[in-house]
Amino acid sequence: MKCPYCATEDTAVIDSRISDDGDTVRRRRECKSCVKRFTTYERVELNLPMVVKASGYRTAYDREKVRVGFSRALHKRPVPTEYVDAAINRLEQRLLALGEREVASRVIGEMVMRELKKMDDVAYIRFASVYEDFQRVDDFREKVLEVKRPGFKRTRVTRTSQPAKSSKSS
Ligand SMILES: [Zn+2]
Repeated sequence: MKCPYCATEDTAVIDSRISDDGDTVRRRRECKSCVKRFTTYERVELNLPMVVKASGYRTAYDREKVRVGFSRALHKRPVPTEYVDAAINRLEQRLLALGEREVASRVIGEMVMRELKKMDDVAYIRFASVYEDFQRVDDFREKVLEVKRPGFKRTRVTRTSQPAKSSKSS
């Protein structure tokens, strides 16, 4: 591990401890060159599902984006950063527990809301109002795309005009 102060690669671990939830190892390190100390956190790399927006667009799950969502809602609210970290960890555990390769962005938004509700009423209301507007815009966009999609009506016509099989074979 490179020293963040002088970039020397020769640093020593002086203390290691596991977080209360057992998900993170916190290490105190000391640089052998400039003798400054710093902390590193070690976490298991998780394969989180891809995020699917209402528009159908897929993107990789991004912990930082979720954190931005929390910090916007919690702007100037008396909630410690550790609470947010713990909330994001819980959210990721829940996402993993779904066991899906893809998850709708709406599901993540609802998980964020659930965590905020436990944390701070003001932040929860803030997030919920912004989020619901955003959802509406996304839904609207999806409906527009659906109507514009070529062959949208034709597929429906073919489907309904298919002969009903074995309906009178008794
Ligand atoms: Zn150093």
